[in-house]
Amino acid sequence: MQNDVVSYFLELVAIDSESLNERGMIERLKSDLEQLGAETFVDDSHLKTGGNAGNLYGFLPGNIDKAPILLCAHVDTVKPGNGIKPIIRDGVIYSDGTTILGGDDKSGVAEIMVALRRLKASGKDHAPIEVLFTISEEIGLLGARGFDKSRLKSSFGYAFDTHVVGEIIIGAPSQKSFKITINGKEAHAGVEPEKGLNAILIASEAITRMPMGRIDPETTCNIGIIKGGTATNIVPNTVYLKGEARSHNPDKLQKLCAEIRKAFDDAVQKHSEKGASMDFICNQEYHSFLMDESSEAVQLAIKALKDLDIPYTTGRTGGGSDANIFNAAGFPMIICGTGMDKVHTVDEKIEIAELIRGTDFVSQLIKHHSEA
Ligand SMILES: [Zn+2]
Repeated sequence: MQNDVVSYFLELVAIDSESLNERGMIERLKSDLEQLGAETFVDDSHLKTGGNAGNLYGFLPGNIDKAPILLCAHVDTVKPGNGIKPIIRDGVIYSDGTTILGGDDKSGVAEIMVALRRLKASGKDHAPIEVLFTISEEIGLLGARGFDKSRLKSSFGYAFDTHVVGEIIIGAPSQKSFKITINGKEAHAGVEPEKGLNAILIASEAITRMPMGRIDPETTCNIGIIKGGTATNIVPNTVYLKGEARSHNPDKLQKLCAEIRKAFDDAVQKHSEKGASMDFICNQEYHSFLMDESSEAVQLAIKALKDLDIPYTTGRTGGGSDANIFNAAGFPMIICGTGMDKVHTVDEKIEIAELIRGTDFVSQLIKHHSEA
């Protein structure tokens, strides 16, 4: 017989839910939460994002009088995420190689839901529990941004949204994004190139002057998109670039973005007599956080993992997630591993043993929180 969390996980990955198309997942989970006796609420944050469903909040009343804890996961996936056909081989679940698997983050969703089902079936006393399933995490943490945090009654929470079960992420970087448009001048490339000003050349001069890649252990930078030009016989007059910079240290991030800006300013300046110009937009995407290891949220997770003999690690990630948004809003949230592996690729997979360990971990967290 298939394990309960495995069959539930397989049901969830069969529901298409690329970002902005989360309705199927939200409706399914709303109904499942209500069957467990939870009060549910779907917000309207999708009205601002263009999606077809809002965030799903659930409150499972407890019979122990204390503050709830928040269990959080996101329901959207990256592309290609439609028509996922999971394949089980040697205790590991894969996609068929044409799509992602969706373990990011349906492993987190399944582990939370199955832990709640088991709790309900056990009839044991427990503290109240808040559940939040967010939308559109993968396209800029949109659901977490739109959710009204004042609804939360918990004093801290867990996002189940990273790799190995036992991994506890207590810090994440700030991120700034930049969009740059460089303007040169169009001319026939074969007849009168001297009358033109090559925007691609200006962009490449700026890129070679700017910092790139790993800057230091806590800081990174990348140009990820460059588009420009229309034909080989035309000196291109416009180039668009998009990039990002991240750091766990906000001062370093500020300094890095100033250096990037200067590299582009200098390159444009060099060609200003011929009419070069630039539009440079820099946005703060999210803020860094670092939680104290001695905090209740971290200690409770460590206790639960020790109980289960699961080795644990605490550390920082280079990525952003819903936890950045909650921590920036003053709500402490750490990120825990679910077993997801090779996420955002068609080679994505998850070990069945990890799904089972992840579910046990959620159950143990609830138990310790209820007893504490
Ligand atoms: Zn994720």
